[in-house]
Amino acid sequence: MGNLDGKVAVVTGGEEKPMTLMHATYDAPTQTVALPPALANMNSNVLDDAILKKLVDPDIYYAFARCRATGLPMDKEDANALAKSILEWAQSKGCIGYSHWFSPLRGPIHGEKLETFVAVDFATDRLIINLTGSELFQTETDGSSFPNGELRETHKAAAYIGWDTGSPPFVYRETLYIPSAFVSWAGEALDQKTPLLRADLAVDEQSLRLLHHLGDTDTKQVVCNVGWEQEFFLIDREKYLARPDLVATGRTLLGATPLRGQELSSNYFARLSPRVNRYMAEAREKMWNLGISIHCTHNEVAPAQHEISPIFNLANLAADTNVLAMDVLRDLAFDHGFVILFHEKPFAGINGSGKHNNWGLNTDTGVNLFVPGETENDNRRFIAFVAALLRGVNKHGDLLRCGVSTAGNDHRLGAQEAPPAILTLHLGDRLEAHVKKVAEGGNFTAYETQHKQIEISAPVADIRASLEDRNRTAPFPWCGNRFEFRAVGGNQHIAFPLTMVNAALADSLKYMCEEIEAGKAVDQVIRETIKQNQGALFSGDGYSEELHEHAEKSALIHLKSSPEAYQALTSAKNIKLFSDLNIFNEREIAARQRVLQEAYATELRIEARTLLNILRTLIIPVTIEDARVSTESGYSSKLFDEKANLVQQLLTETDKLAVAFDDFPDDGPAQSASYAHETIKPLMQSARTVADRLEALVDSRLWPLPTYSEMLHGHQ
Ligand code: ADP
Ligand code: MG
Repeated sequence: MGNLDGKVAVVTGGEEKPMTLMHATYDAPTQTVALPPALANMNSNVLDDAILKKLVDPDIYYAFARCRATGLPMDKEDANALAKSILEWAQSKGCIGYSHWFSPLRGPIHGEKLETFVAVDFATDRLIINLTGSELFQTETDGSSFPNGELRETHKAAAYIGWDTGSPPFVYRETLYIPSAFVSWAGEALDQKTPLLRADLAVDEQSLRLLHHLGDTDTKQVVCNVGWEQEFFLIDREKYLARPDLVATGRTLLGATPLRGQELSSNYFARLSPRVNRYMAEAREKMWNLGISIHCTHNEVAPAQHEISPIFNLANLAADTNVLAMDVLRDLAFDHGFVILFHEKPFAGINGSGKHNNWGLNTDTGVNLFVPGETENDNRRFIAFVAALLRGVNKHGDLLRCGVSTAGNDHRLGAQEAPPAILTLHLGDRLEAHVKKVAEGGNFTAYETQHKQIEISAPVADIRASLEDRNRTAPFPWCGNRFEFRAVGGNQHIAFPLTMVNAALADSLKYMCEEIEAGKAVDQVIRETIKQNQGALFSGDGYSEELHEHAEKSALIHLKSSPEAYQALTSAKNIKLFSDLNIFNEREIAARQRVLQEAYATELRIEARTLLNILRTLIIPVTIEDARVSTESGYSSKLFDEKANLVQQLLTETDKLAVAFDDFPDDGPAQSASYAHETIKPLMQSARTVADRLEALVDSRLWPLPTYSEMLHGHQ
């Protein structure tokens, strides 16, 4: 997949042009030893291009390829012929029906409506098995029952789901799934996919424009590639069900620090426990089957925390496969007696879960735009794209922050385990120094791209080092051939953060092109762009005070909370940027802002309600009972005094939270989100702190919830 070697010939308007690979195909190798079934069946449930070519007549394939390249509909007869072949393929895989598979604005939980292959032939009045071209390409639904930020109402609800022909159909749970975009009757985006596809186009268009100014007229397409890394926790299902907070909110709203957490670093890259190993092997096989190229699985920092990642893919496909992988992992956890937690901070005091997005740009001529070149021209191109990204981070740090802003992710950002909420670009010491020299008129080629060999001074082969050191504290570090957007949350749909990154980049490429087209020399524009935006370069420790000092000095955007960040989405700057780049019109971006604010406020409302319920019905009765027994024992001790004090404090804090909860404002999503952040969150924290102290002191036989230790170490 990765190297974009594969090209598909596509006919546009009678003219044939190469198109970048849509989806990697796989031919099991012929070899003398038998292949493990998991490898032999790789990709077998994906209708990739290679299979499609074999299934349909060449005429139909080319008609489809033309439709994919141009977005124009296929002829009815051709579409019916295509659907008939796809129907047969799906039946051969055991499918009894199909469903469009789309991403409404509710986190990474796809939408689907199963439609069977059963139809009536009205000419003969008989039941038949059928899939028409029109059924394959689109379906209509109710847009008002999904979060839509007022783009749809119950009396004006029509919405359409249309096949994203760039993403291949697949078979899962005896169903043929057709990856789709979801838009309103007016054509406005109601989903995660549509804006990402538009942002990909903007990056393609603006990159080609800049490449042209850099003297490259061969490149016809620039694509954005993404490799995600998904972190998650696995815990026993029965313990999950005994925790109302996990069931209602996906995170523990209280819970004392475990006796042993991650202090000994004993989980990171440790062997998988036998039970987790069986789960992971089965999950990997199912994902391979679905064309998700899982390459890496390992234990993460916290106990019961794990990570998987596939090989990178086109951004749109990576977003689809991430949602699908989350589905597979979730479904399979049930079979293994686990529940999987994708929440960014399911347990306080130990590592949370992120979803690093390795993000890069490649051309259809095989060039990776984020790899330093050997020649002056190649290096100028590299520095030009780095300059554009630097400007994107500096000028549009607000958008990148919005892209990773959720109630869950706010617990992670800047919390000594994840990148800070201040967005900066990490290039590494040497590249940063080089880029700054270029800004001052230095030579483009002076960056040393020879990898150094690390001598180990032991009988171990010398090691080839990466060009720059690794910075785990940076939100957006360069990794030698790509950038890694590390701030993305584990439970996010990655399409939105990717849309924001692509929008920020495309705007800066456009800015640079406009400067050049206004008459400035290319090199001057590159240099000025770096100079004006170099405040956003930071290669130091992102967890340190130094970053905050740097941010202040360089006037970097620092949006501390999600509600604060959401406000920025509809600033005059951003409305113009999104509409100039054709990513969101003004109504669409206002709707998205509303959806995010509503989700934030609603999540906090559910959390507060759940915490109040647990405190009132489980924790307070138990701690009072414990205090009663202590008093009746006739002994006196500091322990008993402390417990009695804490019980009183808990009652007071619970009352405060209850009052604040009853006062939750109802005058618009922005106000609700701010109130949730400013008032509800701190009160929840205060009540929790007292409850957690009590948990460590009261009779553990009375404690009504599974503890952190039981949940985190139960299956290790
Ligand atoms: P880490 O060491 O940061 O945990 P991993 O090896 O787990 O990294 O994941 C790295 C990810 O980066 C993989 O998905 C990989 O395919 C992806 N990747 C590698 N090169 C590129 C590239 N040029 N563009 C986008 N993604 C890439
Ligand atoms: Mg990682």
